[in-house]
Amino acid sequence: MKTKPKNIYNRSSPRVTVIGSGVCGLGIGWRLSELGYKVDVFEAEEVGKGATWAAAGMLAAGVECEPGEEKLLELTTKSQKMWPNFLKDLAKSTDINPHYKDEGTLVIAFNNDELSKLKFNYKFQSGLGIDLEWLDKEEVRNMEPHLNTKTLDAVFSKNDHQVDNRFLLLALMDAFKNSGGKIHEKHRVESIKIEKGRVKGIVIDSVFHEADIVLLAAGAHSSTIDGLPSNIIPPVRPVKGQMLALQMDINRPLAKHVIWTPNSYLVPRDDGRLIIGATVEERGFNSEITAGALYSLLESAWRTLPTIEELPIVETWCGFRPTSRDDAPILGPTEIEGLVLATGHHRNGILLAPLTADTISEYILTGNIPSEIEDYGIDRFIN
Ligand SMILES: Cc1cc2nc3c(=O)[nH]c(=O)nc-3n(C[C@H](O)[C@H](O)[C@H](O)COP(=O)(O)OP(=O)(O)OC[C@H]3O[C@@H](n4cnc5c(N)ncnc54)[C@H](O)[C@@H]3O)c2cc1C
Repeated sequence: MKTKPKNIYNRSSPRVTVIGSGVCGLGIGWRLSELGYKVDVFEAEEVGKGATWAAAGMLAAGVECEPGEEKLLELTTKSQKMWPNFLKDLAKSTDINPHYKDEGTLVIAFNNDELSKLKFNYKFQSGLGIDLEWLDKEEVRNMEPHLNTKTLDAVFSKNDHQVDNRFLLLALMDAFKNSGGKIHEKHRVESIKIEKGRVKGIVIDSVFHEADIVLLAAGAHSSTIDGLPSNIIPPVRPVKGQMLALQMDINRPLAKHVIWTPNSYLVPRDDGRLIIGATVEERGFNSEITAGALYSLLESAWRTLPTIEELPIVETWCGFRPTSRDDAPILGPTEIEGLVLATGHHRNGILLAPLTADTISEYILTGNIPSEIEDYGIDRFIN
């Protein structure tokens, strides 16, 4: 049943404009449409072909946690736990299956250096309460028989799952449309119009479109839209990631779990694709696929699963992580009334999708900033 929106902006039927059709824009757009808001998503290119399309879909709050990310772990773990209910809700609004897989993640080591690093991370991550299991080489090979025989010990994270981000995107798009939302492809927002401290709408091809609430969710491009005062331009830059996919025999997949190695990760999909990623490059919006990147990813994947040698490469691509100055997302209102931000999710945007959608739609509905995102506003960058 739809709940009538409580309008924090003193209109009976607030119009929400969302800039960007990635997991952030569509996730929030869907939740708001379900609540009865009139939501228009404007997308510069084709729907959802940004970072959300390019990602690996790992929901790896545990094994991705590095020193310095202890605080972010609270956010990522919270979102990780929200996934099952988020998917249940999504299934009420669409028949498209996002292929959530809950086999967990293995982190492996091949030599003593890598083993030392594995031990360090195991100690650090377990110390933060992450549920990890140390496995000896026999136990690892039992779980993944195609692993290189040189594999030493490994760590198993039973809560770090995966979703097929491309199907997730299609599911969100369908759910959004089914709940009454409208998507406008090939509509690049040039600027956001602000008057007397209040958002008025957006400009596309020099045409003004009025809105009561503007949600900026333009991923790595979030700092490139005109009209914002300099102190609330989100400090987000693109961090390039190159990836490739091999096609396994769907009846005899070479891996069941997500596998992390020191130089790559391997993500087996339901359709037999094996996703291999990813580089981390500061190259602006340069979208070239390079020999060096593919070589190092393939070399690392081959060292992990030697029998990939015969598999066809079915796709190569790259994407741009929307990365903020402190690698954490930028979520919530700004000093401009009606202007809301959901950007800067760096390498965690898929993992954080449920939390982003729920907290931002709750803020728009109630006017209260949910406690989970209180520390993630744009104001943390304003000196
Ligand atoms: C290689 C790679 C691997 C990754 N792997 C993972 C992973 O395993 N797990 C995980 O959780 N995260 C992962 N990520 C990160 C994740 O993909 C992102 O954090 C997330 O997709 C960001 O979503 P978004 O909606 O903010 O941005 P996007 O998906 O980039 O969407 C933004 C949209 O805004 C549009 N846009 C831009 N400018 C304008 C404009 N002016 N007007 C209108 N529209 C505009 C863009 O065209 C784009 O479609 C990965 C990212 C990359 C690149």
